[in-house]
Amino acid sequence: MTSSNEEISKPKSGGLTLLFDADDTLWENNIYFERAIAAFISYLDHRVHSPEEVREHLNLCERATIAAHGYGLKSFRRSLVDCFEQLSDEPITPEKHGRIIAFTEAIAAQEIELLPGVEETLRELCRRHTLILVTKGNVEEQTDKLQRSGLRPYFSGVEVLAEKNPAAYAALLEKHQLDRSKTWMTGNSPRSDINPALAVGMNAIFIPHDFTWVLEHEVVDQPGAGQELLELSTIRELLSRF
Ligand SMILES: [Mg+2]
Repeated sequence: MTSSNEEISKPKSGGLTLLFDADDTLWENNIYFERAIAAFISYLDHRVHSPEEVREHLNLCERATIAAHGYGLKSFRRSLVDCFEQLSDEPITPEKHGRIIAFTEAIAAQEIELLPGVEETLRELCRRHTLILVTKGNVEEQTDKLQRSGLRPYFSGVEVLAEKNPAAYAALLEKHQLDRSKTWMTGNSPRSDINPALAVGMNAIFIPHDFTWVLEHEVVDQPGAGQELLELSTIRELLSRF
């Protein structure tokens, strides 16, 4: 587990610890990747494979890249180049390589767009409870997005994990000395936010996003005895519950 911040949070009056995912929970993220992928597929303009087939192949490339190199823009760029080379008959030219890089640079240049209600909800919740940001990906990229979002002051701690699996959540409980029954994980991804948090005994709040990344799709598990799972349509609904 990597962390951009070594603060250990102190309890607040509400007594709960609320963990928040970032991408597609606090701010838009996947839509920029989808735009880049659409541009890539249209640029590739494959004579044999349909756009759906190219997309399927890109998903395979992304799984392989992430397993070897982790999440982040560099991995995404590598996946696009791999996909291009594997589906093309000829090796990639510098000109084509440059075009592919440009698709990913558009993502890096993107302004942070907070999802509706995020700023006021966190501002209020951080007075009542301890908030910790729990994201995965490249430490530098995620930390930079958090700084640019303006949301950093609302969090007592920030964790950028290589993967959000049960072992990572268990380590987080240990590190922050959290009571799992008083800890809630909020996020848009069943695979990374909800199921692994439930697996280690936390409560969870699922806020679906219409454009959640296909690699994050999974059926939401049922909570165990004594655990709670809420499904909300917007983050604002947290204010009446917490
Ligand atoms: Mg997310």
